[in-house]
Amino acid sequence: MAHTILVVEDEEVTSNLLKEILERENYKVLLAPTAFRARGLLSKNSPDLIILDRRLPDQDGLELCKEIRQRDKGKGVPVLFLTAKKSIADKVTGLSLGGDDYLVKPFDAQELLARVEALLRRRISQEDAPAVLQSGDLKLDLTRIQAFLKGKPLKLWPKEFEILRALLEKKGRVLSREFLLQSVWGYEKELHITSKTVDVTMSRLRKKLGSFGDKIFFIKGYGYRLDE
Ligand code: CA
Repeated sequence: MAHTILVVEDEEVTSNLLKEILERENYKVLLAPTAFRARGLLSKNSPDLIILDRRLPDQDGLELCKEIRQRDKGKGVPVLFLTAKKSIADKVTGLSLGGDDYLVKPFDAQELLARVEALLRRRISQEDAPAVLQSGDLKLDLTRIQAFLKGKPLKLWPKEFEILRALLEKKGRVLSREFLLQSVWGYEKELHITSKTVDVTMSRLRKKLGSFGDKIFFIKGYGYRLDE
């Protein structure tokens, strides 16, 4: 079933662009140019994700987010803030008011989609996704956030666990470093994390996995893939 995304944005160029990018990936998109319209749509729809502009003509995006969070229906909905402001202070405020991630305009389509996918995945894993992911001798308990190799618990750093989770969820598919940066490191991107970080973490992770690590392939110029 297609995920529904509510886009609250008053600039038509931006909202049309968002709609186009998201619909190309088969998301169902609802557009609201004002907070008022967003409230109306929210009373009749239950979007899986909300993309919210900080500066709306009738209300501060932060205020609207706070309001959505206070409703029963809106509590678990991930919110991706969209803003032209670049200051870290704004970013922190946005997140502390219940926004889950932050994207600065102008944005890149790939970056947007990676964030959207990561937020939706986080939400699904909290709701009804399987609590365990398995591939061969490797098992990830997503409830306890613990990895097991041949039944023995592995000591992993959080990012290593998240990388494994991404690889297992998309077994057989190549995950680009850019995708891993966005989905595993998320909005820490601005903290000077580069694709080198992915490689370093990946090589550390492979060592910890012993012979299972050989199932993780590096495809030069593309990224990483886990094979069965
Ligand atoms: Ca605006």
